[in-house]
Amino acid sequence: MGQVDQLLEELIALPSVNPAFLPPGDRLAGEQRVADYLASVAKKLGLPSEHAPVCPGRTNLLIRLTPTHTRRLRILLAPHLDTVGGSNLPGNLFTPRRKNARIYGRGACDTKGSVAAMFSALCAIARDNPPQETEIIFGGLADEESGQAGSRRLATNGFRADLAIVGEPTQLKIVTAHKGVVWLRLTTSGKAAHGARPELGRNAVHAMAQIVDLLETKYAAQLRRHKHPLLGRGTINVGAIQGGSQPNIVPSSCSIMIDRRTLPGERETEVCREIRQLLKSRNLSAKVESLQGGPCWSLDTDPAQPLVANFLSIAGQRKLAGVDYFSDAAILAAGGIPSVLFGPGDIAQAHTPDEWIAVDSLERAERLLIRFFRSLP
Ligand SMILES: [Zn+2]
Repeated sequence: MGQVDQLLEELIALPSVNPAFLPPGDRLAGEQRVADYLASVAKKLGLPSEHAPVCPGRTNLLIRLTPTHTRRLRILLAPHLDTVGGSNLPGNLFTPRRKNARIYGRGACDTKGSVAAMFSALCAIARDNPPQETEIIFGGLADEESGQAGSRRLATNGFRADLAIVGEPTQLKIVTAHKGVVWLRLTTSGKAAHGARPELGRNAVHAMAQIVDLLETKYAAQLRRHKHPLLGRGTINVGAIQGGSQPNIVPSSCSIMIDRRTLPGERETEVCREIRQLLKSRNLSAKVESLQGGPCWSLDTDPAQPLVANFLSIAGQRKLAGVDYFSDAAILAAGGIPSVLFGPGDIAQAHTPDEWIAVDSLERAERLLIRFFRSLP
């Protein structure tokens, strides 16, 4: 058994905050420190690593355990190496602390805990009786917390695997489904006029107030009519609003930003169409624009796929599981790699100022992965 808890402490002490959350050139930014450290440990075991370019200055780390015979299967372990920020919070999130058999620090559960468990499991199987026909690749991905540039690059570069196990804090459940995300901006246009003569203008804020109400009541109710067995219902949240400039001017423009969580089968184009139709039915209109650089699909992996079924049976998991949050798994799945989520820790602690993980859950994740590897040809 490796020292998975010690490895996690080392990883927390190597900040890898997504650069999107920091000013340019910040010393806490980027995945490189973590990638270099893991590559150096892998080298001691004779495992080759590759820093695959993602965007300027950022890479995915790929560490390969090649089979002793001809390769028949390839398994990708895909936790992300970046974390959210938090340097302005009290205390030092990058100094790991231990209390009550828990490890505290940024990334403890999201997802340096998965990195530690997956990497330790890979090292253990490399040392002792590796599979003969299965290649296991540890893929430490960049940029999951912002635009998912790492998984998008891997998926579009023609990388293939028979199963990807994406590291997320699922409380050791194997998760086969998650919701997708659509972010939109809606803008209403009116006509400016003097505040003393509002009848000469057209109030864009008033029009938007009606749209916000419609989205949060009628549209939300419409979404509650469809239920996915693992994911429940789609949701809508109006997260921001901006309009007008001062009390004595009739506002000529108002915009909102909305977050729509989608079920399998729903895509951005359909969401936009639904919203436009609803507005039209109430004689309202707004410009609808996407706020996303790339699509964030839902995940709906077939649990009957042999490798998924095998992993579920080794874990003794009879009930299928889905989660609300988006992950790299949907991007890898859209690129043709059957993908599930699995990892130690609970998403409830992710992104919080006192992020933690139980040492016991790290060790159980590592043991379960080793048992799965041992079942492969
Ligand atoms: Zn996260």
